[in-house]
Amino acid sequence: MVEKDAPFPIGVSVQEARARILEVAARHAMSSEMAALEAARGRILAHDVRAPCDVPGFANSAMDGFALRGADLPACGEKRLRLTGEIFAGGHAAPSVETDCCVRITTGAPIPPGADTVVKKEDTRVEDETIIVAAGTTAGTNVRPAGEDYRAGDIALKRGCRLGPAQLGVLASFGSAGVEVSRRPRAVLLTTGDELVSVGDPLGFGQIHDSNRYSLGGLLEGFGVELIRHERVRDDPAALGDALRRAGEGADIVITSGGVSAGEADFLPRLVAEIGEVVFWKVRIKPGMPFLFGRVGRAILCALPGNPVSGFAITTVLVRPALDTMCGANAAPATLHARLRSAIDKRHARAEFLRARLECDEQGILWATPHARQGSGMLRGVAEADALILLSEGARQFAQGESVRAIPLPGWPA
Ligand code: AMP
Ligand code: MG
Repeated sequence: MVEKDAPFPIGVSVQEARARILEVAARHAMSSEMAALEAARGRILAHDVRAPCDVPGFANSAMDGFALRGADLPACGEKRLRLTGEIFAGGHAAPSVETDCCVRITTGAPIPPGADTVVKKEDTRVEDETIIVAAGTTAGTNVRPAGEDYRAGDIALKRGCRLGPAQLGVLASFGSAGVEVSRRPRAVLLTTGDELVSVGDPLGFGQIHDSNRYSLGGLLEGFGVELIRHERVRDDPAALGDALRRAGEGADIVITSGGVSAGEADFLPRLVAEIGEVVFWKVRIKPGMPFLFGRVGRAILCALPGNPVSGFAITTVLVRPALDTMCGANAAPATLHARLRSAIDKRHARAEFLRARLECDEQGILWATPHARQGSGMLRGVAEADALILLSEGARQFAQGESVRAIPLPGWPA
């Protein structure tokens, strides 16, 4: 029996589980690779990126209007200036602007030599070749100087930042076609259980469809893994051992679901102890208590309980930080705080993650309403929730209005 004199801790706190996971994950850091900008969204930057040039690269107009010398602007009343040329964004160089002259200009066009100010079109009148400018514009207005956004040499993006659309835009503004990012952890997902049947196949007596393949697979892909393989494995020690060994050879992280509790067909704890290494087994958490963390072959192993909600919660709360650490992400996922809509009596001392709806009122207060269906087998509770809210370890009574941590689920806010 694994539990007797086990050489690993059993029944750790959520904090201890997290600390041990991060320690192991840090030793499994991903190497880096080049990604085309088109394929880099969501990836983690492997190095600091400095601006290779000023952005914008030249002083340009912030408005459609007329470029002129600020010294020529009227202090009061109106003034006539001679229109001597034009320059449009992407157009050719305009003649230099002489005293009491101006050049028609569009947004983004380079400020012509001699000019230092743009009067916007709406503040002028045109009469033949003359522009009438009213007092009110100050010298230097509507000019975007070179380097006002990024100066050449500035650190623009920090190593570890997650590349979203804005960051990709910044890289593109530097002219980069590709970017060095952390390799995505290669994941193998093993769903285990004799009762499991593929979607599309009819159910026999006592059978269920393998929903974890999709809920956990989708969650993991959203957290940045490359799912290289999924296998369904029977509750058979030989088949499980074989699948585990093979998974540990090619993957950076192996995720299993099912077979990790104390039932007659729960072979994983003993198998992992034999084939690989158990770092800890069982966490003082609900749902997901039987979670086992360890290693197999070259890979990190996260053995999730089969209950769909347990696996979902553990993946969100404990597997995701492991993936972020492996990729060198420098920002933890958003943690919110929300007030409980109603009092809760937890009736046990373990930490508990409840599925809840979030709603922000007009005073800016975030409220959490626990879902009515909290069973660890009820995916409905997850499908209809916005977040997991944490009822911390130790405390049992939570008052209405009390503030709790909330971990948003993928897709919230919409
Ligand atoms: P286990 O952790 O193997 O004891 O499984 C706990 C519960 O989760 C049982 O009711 C299983 O039928 C169910 N379960 C296990 N694996 C899956 C899966 N891949 N998809 C949906 N339910 C599952
Ligand atoms: Mg099972």
